[in-house]
Amino acid sequence: MNQGDMDSNECNKRRRSAIRLMFLGIMILCIGLTGCSSKQKSSETLHDGRTLYELEGTLDTKEHVLNFTETITYQNNEEVTLSELYLHIYGNAYQIYDSTKGIQVLTVNSLSKDTLTYEVLDQNQLLKIVPEKPLEPGKAIQFKIDCKFLIPDLVDRFGYYQTQYCFSFFNPQMAVYDDAGWDLAPMSLVGDGRYHDMSDFRIKITVPKDYVVACGGVERKKEVKNESVTYTFENSNARDICMSISDQYEIVEDEINGIKVYAYFEKNVVSQKSKDSTMQQIKGSLDCYETVFGDYPYDTFRMATITQKPNISVAMEYSGLIYMPREAFLDNQFANYEEVLSHEIAHQWFYGIIGNNETTEAWLDEGLTTFAVGVYLEKVKGKEQAEDYSTKGQYLKLDPIPINKEITEYQNTAYYMVCYYKAQYFLYELRERMGEETFYSAIKEYYDTYAFKQANTEGFISIMESNSPVDISDLVETYVALP
Ligand SMILES: [Zn+2]
Repeated sequence: MNQGDMDSNECNKRRRSAIRLMFLGIMILCIGLTGCSSKQKSSETLHDGRTLYELEGTLDTKEHVLNFTETITYQNNEEVTLSELYLHIYGNAYQIYDSTKGIQVLTVNSLSKDTLTYEVLDQNQLLKIVPEKPLEPGKAIQFKIDCKFLIPDLVDRFGYYQTQYCFSFFNPQMAVYDDAGWDLAPMSLVGDGRYHDMSDFRIKITVPKDYVVACGGVERKKEVKNESVTYTFENSNARDICMSISDQYEIVEDEINGIKVYAYFEKNVVSQKSKDSTMQQIKGSLDCYETVFGDYPYDTFRMATITQKPNISVAMEYSGLIYMPREAFLDNQFANYEEVLSHEIAHQWFYGIIGNNETTEAWLDEGLTTFAVGVYLEKVKGKEQAEDYSTKGQYLKLDPIPINKEITEYQNTAYYMVCYYKAQYFLYELRERMGEETFYSAIKEYYDTYAFKQANTEGFISIMESNSPVDISDLVETYVALP
């Protein structure tokens, strides 16, 4: 058990965040579910109308199977009545590599008074639910999904390799209903391609007792029983839930600005020097981004190293948890791992706290994240040292491809170059033009406007324009495709 989680040592800042969130409208909301027994009592309230996911599962490391149930309490927060609900099963995008593995939906049962029917669509990547009675605005529905996850050989951040389990995108999750209706786009295997509203997650997972579970959020309980151990985690006001599970972990703990930091290293192979410098870089990044962009409004941050196949080296971000390749922390570590580590941490702000549709406007998280790393490097190494990194995208300025195309419209590596580095240089130029003080003040307004919501390009540009003392329209036209 990570005692620090249980005792949650709240600093004043976190209290301030909590109070602010309260004013933002977190309130206990009775949703009038009928037909629920007292067993579902914990699910009868929703925070601020956020969807609640309650997961319970057992990992079989011999057969490489995760059997789990997911109870979902969903409230219709739209102004229209919904006759159909949709959930993404993003992980099944990887069935393109092995169609015999993936997440199987066994049954879906209503826990509300009314019944429902369901259908799995789009190469197992979409779950459609039709409630007996259309869901009126403000009304809620609760249902339970039984799943069997046949875990494939690791493909990028999904599956298992040796005794490493990477559970990204494994649970069915509500699609976003936005101005265009339900977003049904499958996850792109280029880039990230997620789109999630803030939700609350509770997960109880049982693993063999030698295994350690790293999961976004706060560890509430750890119960050892005979040969197994059951972890309970809660990740509240988060975009997603993700786990890294391994029998090779040792945990190093630290704290910065009231945030408990947990790093899961491969035991017996990482030097003390590497652990110390990594913790320093994690804390330095969190501190820098809190100062420049806005509060990290959670009690915990976790970094899990993951063991991947020899030719794979993936780092990835989730709410409250990032993946880093194990090789990053060995003595012959790759040169730019500090940049990669800080990049994934910056995603807690861009994608995590401030959401966006990663399929249609990936630059909003990747560009701002890449820019953020430049800001971090400026702070720890000085402006001159950071300039090489900060101006990487300079030559792309002449490239006519705009930064705000759909992920699927970019050819090959253009996505990475444009959404990461060209967008980074756009932000660098905006900062030069507007002046640092004005630019960072506008970025804070962007944070305050879109924290816990979905940002978009139009909103970002509008905040920059309204803050800038000088004309920036030529820069906007150079980088962004305007409607
Ligand atoms: Zn990224």
